[in-house]
Amino acid sequence: MLLVVNYHRLWPTGSVGRTMFDDGVFGPDLETFRRQMQWLKASTIILDEESLLGLRNGSGYPHGTVLSAVTFDDAYVDCRTLAQPVLDECGIRGLFFVPVELIEKRQLGWWDQVAYLLKQTPLKSIVVDGRGYDLASGFRQALRSILELFKLETADRTAELLTRLADACRIPLPPLALQSAELMTWQQIRELRAAGHAIGSHTLSHRVLATLDPSEQAREIAGSRRALEGILCDSVRSFAYPVGGPRHIDRHSIELVQQAGYGLAFTFNTGFARVPPADRLQIPRESAHSFAALRSKVLLPRLMGLNDQLALEPASTGN
Ligand SMILES: [Zn+2]
Repeated sequence: MLLVVNYHRLWPTGSVGRTMFDDGVFGPDLETFRRQMQWLKASTIILDEESLLGLRNGSGYPHGTVLSAVTFDDAYVDCRTLAQPVLDECGIRGLFFVPVELIEKRQLGWWDQVAYLLKQTPLKSIVVDGRGYDLASGFRQALRSILELFKLETADRTAELLTRLADACRIPLPPLALQSAELMTWQQIRELRAAGHAIGSHTLSHRVLATLDPSEQAREIAGSRRALEGILCDSVRSFAYPVGGPRHIDRHSIELVQQAGYGLAFTFNTGFARVPPADRLQIPRESAHSFAALRSKVLLPRLMGLNDQLALEPASTGN
Protein backbone atom coordinates (compact mmCIF):
# COMPACT_ATOMS: atom_id res chain seq x y z
CA MET A 1 0.00 0.00 0.00
CA LEU A 2 1.00 3.61 -0.47
CA LEU A 3 0.56 6.18 2.28
CA VAL A 4 1.00 9.77 1.12
CA VAL A 5 1.47 12.06 4.09
CA ASN A 6 0.51 15.70 3.74
CA TYR A 7 1.58 18.76 5.70
CA HIS A 8 1.13 22.50 5.27
CA ARG A 9 3.10 24.11 8.08
CA LEU A 10 5.31 23.09 11.01
CA TRP A 11 5.62 24.85 14.38
CA PRO A 12 9.14 25.98 15.27
CA THR A 13 10.34 24.19 18.43
CA GLY A 14 8.85 25.86 21.52
CA SER A 15 6.43 28.02 19.54
CA VAL A 16 3.34 25.85 19.29
CA GLY A 17 0.23 28.01 19.04
CA ARG A 18 2.09 31.26 18.40
CA THR A 19 0.75 32.60 15.13
CA MET A 20 -1.34 35.55 14.03
CA PHE A 21 -2.69 33.35 11.26
CA ASP A 22 -4.57 30.03 10.99
CA ASP A 23 -3.41 27.43 13.54
CA GLY A 24 -5.48 24.84 11.67
CA VAL A 25 -2.93 24.48 8.88
CA PHE A 26 -0.07 23.66 11.23
CA GLY A 27 1.03 20.07 11.63
CA PRO A 28 3.49 18.90 14.28
CA ASP A 29 6.35 20.90 15.77
CA LEU A 30 9.81 20.54 14.32
CA GLU A 31 11.04 17.89 16.76
CA THR A 32 7.96 15.73 16.27
CA PHE A 33 8.32 16.10 12.51
CA ARG A 34 11.95 14.94 12.77
CA ARG A 35 10.87 11.85 14.78
CA GLN A 36 8.09 11.17 12.26
CA MET A 37 10.46 11.32 9.32
CA GLN A 38 13.08 9.15 11.02
CA TRP A 39 10.41 6.57 11.87
CA LEU A 40 8.85 6.71 8.39
CA LYS A 41 12.27 6.19 6.86
CA ALA A 42 12.91 3.15 9.07
CA SER A 43 9.42 1.62 8.63
CA THR A 44 8.49 2.28 5.01
CA ILE A 45 10.07 2.86 1.63
CA ILE A 46 9.72 6.57 0.94
CA LEU A 47 9.25 7.40 -2.72
CA ASP A 48 10.17 10.60 -4.48
CA GLU A 49 8.23 12.03 -7.42
CA GLU A 50 10.22 10.07 -9.97
CA SER A 51 9.56 6.75 -8.21
CA LEU A 52 5.86 7.58 -7.78
CA LEU A 53 5.60 8.30 -11.51
CA GLY A 54 7.35 5.04 -12.24
CA LEU A 55 5.17 2.78 -10.04
CA ARG A 56 4.08 -0.21 -12.05
CA ASN A 57 2.82 -3.69 -11.25
CA GLY A 58 5.58 -5.62 -9.59
CA SER A 59 7.73 -2.56 -9.16
CA GLY A 60 10.31 -4.73 -7.45
CA TYR A 61 9.34 -3.96 -3.83
CA PRO A 62 8.86 -7.02 -1.59
CA HIS A 63 5.24 -8.16 -1.08
CA GLY A 64 3.61 -6.35 1.84
CA THR A 65 6.02 -3.41 1.79
CA VAL A 66 4.48 -0.13 2.87
CA LEU A 67 5.42 2.63 0.45
CA SER A 68 5.08 6.26 1.45
CA ALA A 69 5.62 9.79 0.18
CA VAL A 70 5.85 13.16 1.92
CA THR A 71 4.05 16.20 0.54
CA PHE A 72 3.64 19.85 1.59
CA ASP A 73 0.98 22.23 0.25
CA ASP A 74 0.75 26.02 -0.01
CA ALA A 75 4.46 26.98 -0.09
CA TYR A 76 4.73 28.43 3.41
CA VAL A 77 8.22 29.58 4.40
CA ASP A 78 8.50 26.75 6.96
CA CYS A 79 8.82 24.32 4.02
CA ARG A 80 12.24 25.78 3.32
CA THR A 81 13.36 26.81 6.81
CA LEU A 82 12.04 23.89 8.92
CA ALA A 83 10.96 20.94 6.77
CA GLN A 84 13.69 20.85 4.14
CA PRO A 85 16.65 20.55 6.56
CA VAL A 86 14.95 17.55 8.25
CA LEU A 87 14.06 15.90 4.94
CA ASP A 88 17.64 16.37 3.71
CA GLU A 89 19.03 14.97 6.97
CA CYS A 90 16.86 11.86 6.52
CA GLY A 91 17.56 11.51 2.80
CA ILE A 92 13.88 12.06 1.93
CA ARG A 93 12.81 13.84 -1.23
CA GLY A 94 9.44 15.51 -0.76
CA LEU A 95 6.86 17.00 -3.10
CA PHE A 96 5.95 20.66 -2.55
CA PHE A 97 2.81 22.18 -4.10
CA VAL A 98 2.85 25.87 -4.95
CA PRO A 99 -0.14 28.22 -5.55
CA VAL A 100 1.60 30.32 -8.19
CA GLU A 101 -0.27 33.63 -7.96
CA LEU A 102 -0.24 33.72 -4.17
CA ILE A 103 3.56 33.45 -4.24
CA GLU A 104 3.72 36.04 -7.01
CA LYS A 105 1.46 38.50 -5.14
CA ARG A 106 2.99 37.61 -1.71
CA GLN A 107 -0.52 37.00 -0.47
CA LEU A 108 -1.76 34.44 2.06
CA GLY A 109 -4.85 32.35 1.42
CA TRP A 110 -8.22 33.51 2.69
CA TRP A 111 -8.10 31.08 5.65
CA ASP A 112 -5.06 32.84 7.09
CA GLN A 113 -6.59 36.26 6.50
CA VAL A 114 -9.83 35.17 8.20
CA ALA A 115 -7.91 33.84 11.23
CA TYR A 116 -5.86 37.08 11.41
CA LEU A 117 -9.01 39.24 11.41
CA LEU A 118 -10.70 37.20 14.14
CA LYS A 119 -7.55 37.10 16.29
CA GLN A 120 -6.72 40.79 15.93
CA THR A 121 -10.16 42.36 16.23
CA PRO A 122 -10.75 44.21 19.50
CA LEU A 123 -14.43 43.17 19.33
CA LYS A 124 -15.82 40.37 21.49
CA SER A 125 -18.47 39.42 18.97
CA ILE A 126 -19.10 40.14 15.30
CA VAL A 127 -21.98 39.84 12.85
CA VAL A 128 -21.35 38.43 9.35
CA ASP A 129 -24.17 38.02 6.82
CA GLY A 130 -26.73 38.54 9.58
CA ARG A 131 -25.29 35.83 11.82
CA GLY A 132 -23.63 36.61 15.13
CA TYR A 133 -20.34 34.99 16.23
CA ASP A 134 -19.15 35.05 19.82
CA LEU A 135 -15.38 35.48 19.84
CA ALA A 136 -14.95 35.81 23.60
CA SER A 137 -16.14 32.37 24.66
CA GLY A 138 -16.42 30.49 21.36
CA PHE A 139 -13.41 31.65 19.35
CA ARG A 140 -12.50 28.24 17.87
CA GLN A 141 -16.06 27.50 16.87
CA ALA A 142 -16.52 30.96 15.33
CA LEU A 143 -13.31 30.60 13.35
CA ARG A 144 -14.22 27.12 12.07
CA SER A 145 -17.77 28.22 11.10
CA ILE A 146 -16.53 31.26 9.20
CA LEU A 147 -13.84 29.21 7.42
CA GLU A 148 -16.52 26.70 6.36
CA LEU A 149 -18.60 29.58 5.03
CA PHE A 150 -15.68 30.63 2.82
CA LYS A 151 -15.03 27.11 1.51
CA LEU A 152 -18.53 26.86 0.09
CA GLU A 153 -18.60 30.33 -1.46
CA THR A 154 -18.05 30.82 -5.14
CA ALA A 155 -14.54 31.94 -5.90
CA ASP A 156 -15.36 35.53 -6.87
CA ARG A 157 -17.31 36.06 -3.64
CA THR A 158 -14.27 35.24 -1.48
CA ALA A 159 -12.53 38.61 -1.87
CA GLU A 160 -15.74 40.50 -1.24
CA LEU A 161 -16.51 38.38 1.81
CA LEU A 162 -13.02 39.06 3.20
CA THR A 163 -13.56 42.80 2.86
CA ARG A 164 -16.91 42.54 4.62
CA LEU A 165 -15.37 40.44 7.38
CA ALA A 166 -12.63 43.09 7.84
CA ASP A 167 -15.39 45.73 8.12
CA ALA A 168 -17.25 43.59 10.65
CA CYS A 169 -14.01 43.18 12.66
CA ARG A 170 -13.26 46.93 12.30
CA ILE A 171 -9.61 46.35 11.35
CA PRO A 172 -7.83 46.28 7.97
CA LEU A 173 -6.75 43.06 6.24
CA PRO A 174 -3.22 41.94 7.24
CA PRO A 175 -0.45 44.18 5.79
CA LEU A 176 1.24 42.62 2.75
CA ALA A 177 4.66 42.54 4.44
CA LEU A 178 3.23 40.34 7.23
CA GLN A 179 1.64 38.02 4.69
CA SER A 180 4.77 37.88 2.56
CA ALA A 181 6.96 36.85 5.51
CA GLU A 182 4.92 33.65 5.91
CA LEU A 183 5.53 32.46 2.33
CA MET A 184 8.51 31.06 0.45
CA THR A 185 10.10 33.28 -2.18
CA TRP A 186 10.75 31.96 -5.69
CA GLN A 187 14.42 31.82 -4.71
CA GLN A 188 13.60 29.51 -1.78
CA ILE A 189 11.40 27.36 -4.02
CA ARG A 190 14.29 27.05 -6.49
CA GLU A 191 16.58 26.06 -3.61
CA LEU A 192 14.17 23.28 -2.62
CA ARG A 193 14.20 22.03 -6.19
CA ALA A 194 17.97 22.25 -6.42
CA ALA A 195 18.18 20.07 -3.29
CA GLY A 196 16.25 17.33 -5.13
CA HIS A 197 12.69 17.97 -3.96
CA ALA A 198 9.86 18.11 -6.51
CA ILE A 199 7.84 21.26 -7.09
CA GLY A 200 4.25 20.70 -8.20
CA SER A 201 1.33 22.96 -9.00
CA HIS A 202 -1.38 23.88 -6.50
CA THR A 203 -3.21 26.03 -9.12
CA LEU A 204 -2.71 29.75 -9.65
CA SER A 205 -5.00 31.27 -7.03
CA HIS A 206 -5.87 28.35 -4.73
CA ARG A 207 -9.58 28.83 -5.46
CA VAL A 208 -11.74 25.75 -4.94
CA LEU A 209 -11.99 24.24 -8.44
CA ALA A 210 -15.60 23.04 -8.11
CA THR A 211 -16.69 26.69 -7.71
CA LEU A 212 -15.21 27.61 -11.12
CA ASP A 213 -16.50 27.05 -14.64
CA PRO A 214 -14.45 24.70 -16.86
CA SER A 215 -12.60 27.52 -18.68
CA GLU A 216 -11.48 29.06 -15.39
CA GLN A 217 -10.52 25.65 -14.09
CA ALA A 218 -8.42 25.13 -17.23
CA ARG A 219 -6.60 28.39 -16.56
CA GLU A 220 -5.91 27.36 -12.96
CA ILE A 221 -4.81 23.84 -13.88
CA ALA A 222 -2.96 24.13 -17.21
CA GLY A 223 -2.02 27.80 -16.76
CA SER A 224 -0.31 27.13 -13.43
CA ARG A 225 1.73 24.30 -14.96
CA ARG A 226 2.91 26.55 -17.80
CA ALA A 227 3.68 29.41 -15.40
CA LEU A 228 5.62 27.21 -12.97
CA GLU A 229 7.57 25.58 -15.78
CA GLY A 230 8.49 29.05 -17.05
CA ILE A 231 9.62 30.20 -13.60
CA LEU A 232 11.55 27.02 -12.73
CA CYS A 233 12.81 26.26 -16.24
CA ASP A 234 11.91 22.63 -15.62
CA SER A 235 8.98 20.31 -16.21
CA VAL A 236 6.19 20.16 -13.63
CA ARG A 237 4.59 16.75 -13.36
CA SER A 238 2.46 16.75 -10.22
CA PHE A 239 -0.62 18.63 -9.06
CA ALA A 240 -2.50 18.94 -5.76
CA TYR A 241 -6.17 19.99 -5.74
CA PRO A 242 -6.80 23.02 -3.46
CA VAL A 243 -8.69 21.95 -0.30
CA GLY A 244 -9.02 18.66 -2.16
CA GLY A 245 -12.08 16.99 -0.61
CA PRO A 246 -14.77 15.28 -2.71
CA ARG A 247 -16.93 18.46 -2.79
CA HIS A 248 -14.04 20.62 -3.94
CA ILE A 249 -13.38 19.03 -7.32
CA ASP A 250 -15.68 17.90 -10.11
CA ARG A 251 -15.34 15.72 -13.20
CA HIS A 252 -13.98 18.66 -15.23
CA SER A 253 -11.16 19.11 -12.71
CA ILE A 254 -9.86 15.59 -13.20
CA GLU A 255 -10.25 15.68 -17.00
CA LEU A 256 -8.42 19.00 -17.16
CA VAL A 257 -5.60 17.73 -14.96
CA GLN A 258 -5.19 14.86 -17.40
CA GLN A 259 -5.35 17.13 -20.46
CA ALA A 260 -2.77 19.46 -18.92
CA GLY A 261 -0.34 16.55 -18.89
CA TYR A 262 0.19 15.99 -15.18
CA GLY A 263 1.35 12.48 -14.28
CA LEU A 264 0.19 12.57 -10.65
CA ALA A 265 -2.52 14.47 -8.77
CA PHE A 266 -3.26 14.40 -5.05
CA THR A 267 -6.59 14.91 -3.28
CA PHE A 268 -7.32 15.36 0.39
CA ASN A 269 -9.50 12.27 0.57
CA THR A 270 -8.10 10.24 3.41
CA GLY A 271 -6.86 6.70 3.01
CA PHE A 272 -4.25 4.67 1.22
CA ALA A 273 -3.61 4.06 -2.44
CA ARG A 274 -3.02 0.70 -4.01
CA VAL A 275 0.32 -0.01 -5.60
CA PRO A 276 0.29 1.00 -8.37
CA PRO A 277 -2.44 3.57 -7.66
CA ALA A 278 -5.81 2.74 -9.25
CA ASP A 279 -6.15 6.40 -10.28
CA ARG A 280 -2.95 8.42 -10.48
CA LEU A 281 -4.95 11.64 -10.74
CA GLN A 282 -6.81 11.09 -7.46
CA ILE A 283 -4.22 9.83 -5.00
CA PRO A 284 -5.49 10.16 -1.42
CA ARG A 285 -3.42 11.73 1.34
CA GLU A 286 -3.39 11.66 5.12
CA SER A 287 -2.31 14.36 7.54
CA ALA A 288 -0.32 13.44 10.64
CA HIS A 289 -0.34 15.98 13.45
CA SER A 290 1.32 13.77 16.06
CA PHE A 291 3.91 11.02 16.10
CA ALA A 292 1.29 8.48 17.27
CA ALA A 293 -1.06 9.49 14.44
CA LEU A 294 1.59 8.80 11.81
CA ARG A 295 2.61 5.49 13.38
CA SER A 296 -0.97 4.27 13.61
CA LYS A 297 -1.62 5.23 9.98
CA VAL A 298 1.14 2.86 8.92
CA LEU A 299 0.61 0.11 11.49
CA LEU A 300 -3.21 -0.12 11.81
CA PRO A 301 -3.93 -1.20 8.23
CA ARG A 302 -1.34 -3.95 8.70
CA LEU A 303 -3.02 -5.14 11.88
CA MET A 304 -6.42 -5.09 10.18
CA GLY A 305 -5.12 -7.10 7.23
CA LEU A 306 -5.79 -4.23 4.87
CA ASN A 307 -2.21 -4.22 3.78
CA ASP A 308 -2.74 -7.44 1.86
CA GLN A 309 -5.71 -6.02 0.00
CA LEU A 310 -3.73 -2.94 -0.92
CA ALA A 311 -0.53 -4.84 -1.54
CA LEU A 312 1.66 -4.74 -4.56
CA GLU A 313 0.26 -6.61 -7.50
CA PRO A 314 2.34 -9.70 -8.27
CA ALA A 315 5.14 -9.13 -10.74
CA SER A 316 4.32 -10.09 -14.31
CA THR A 317 6.05 -13.28 -15.39
CA GLY A 318 7.07 -12.11 -18.85
CA ASN A 319 10.56 -10.90 -19.67
ZN1 LIG B 1 -3.69 24.27 -0.25
